[in-house]
Amino acid sequence: MVKVLAIANQKGGVGKTTTAVNLAASLAATGKRVMLVDCDPQGNATSGSGVNKFELQNSLADILLGQCATDDAILKPEKVGYELIPANDQLTVAEVEMMNRERREFRLREALAPLHARYDFILLDCPPSLSILAVNTLVAATGVLIPIQCEYYALEGLSSLTATIDRIAQTVNHELHIEGILRTMYDPRNNLSRDVSSQLENHFKELVYNSVIPRNITLAEAPSHGLPALHYDKSARGAQAYLMLAGELLRKR
Ligand code: ATP
Ligand code: MG
Repeated sequence: MVKVLAIANQKGGVGKTTTAVNLAASLAATGKRVMLVDCDPQGNATSGSGVNKFELQNSLADILLGQCATDDAILKPEKVGYELIPANDQLTVAEVEMMNRERREFRLREALAPLHARYDFILLDCPPSLSILAVNTLVAATGVLIPIQCEYYALEGLSSLTATIDRIAQTVNHELHIEGILRTMYDPRNNLSRDVSSQLENHFKELVYNSVIPRNITLAEAPSHGLPALHYDKSARGAQAYLMLAGELLRKR
């Protein structure tokens, strides 16, 4: 059965895209069939996969507006090992257009349904909001992976995300659940990081992944080369951490 994972946190800059790209590459490296869908108008997962977001033939925006078939927007970027549905700022335009359409919360779900049989994992890189686009990702997903940066405001806003997940689970997507909580950019020397980390463990218990993503320069550098860290410097601690996370996810299946 396919797992469709929304990588979501409405807080900006917590490591959603870094997780989406590097987890996609790590799962693909284990032989899984992986699709990464860029659901953010910033297009960071697109450029981080080595695709020029300014020169897209088709993108998620066209799919959502019914202007192209899902298959016609699928790219197979060199070297990364996974397939990609790209996005750019056209997605903002599409989002506004979608507001006036019927079943606007279901458009991504309906677009991705034909792909379920062809992939083991479909990862959705979510925008930093709880917009209609973000709601589309939660309606399309089977689970939510929440990256959290262990710092002062980390837990703020988490309750509105979990409330949104609950509401969608109770109404239109009964399958939806929190797949796991991932600690990102972790610095064990920092007292605050350790505090927030133990608060997460106390509150979310076994939902918190054992794998922890360290703050690691390779993870920050690799996107400028259009590569997941695994294919830029496999020995980097960040690349290894995402391989561990992939292993943990596979054992949980
Ligand atoms: P947005 O909300 O804007 O979509 P995001 O949640 O997707 O942001 P990222 O883009 O993944 O967050 O990360 C934010 C910044 O932090 C980026 O510059 C990224 O390269 C850097 N970064 C992410 N994870 C790490 C890490 N583990 N170590 C070092 N730098 C990191
Ligand atoms: Mg992002």
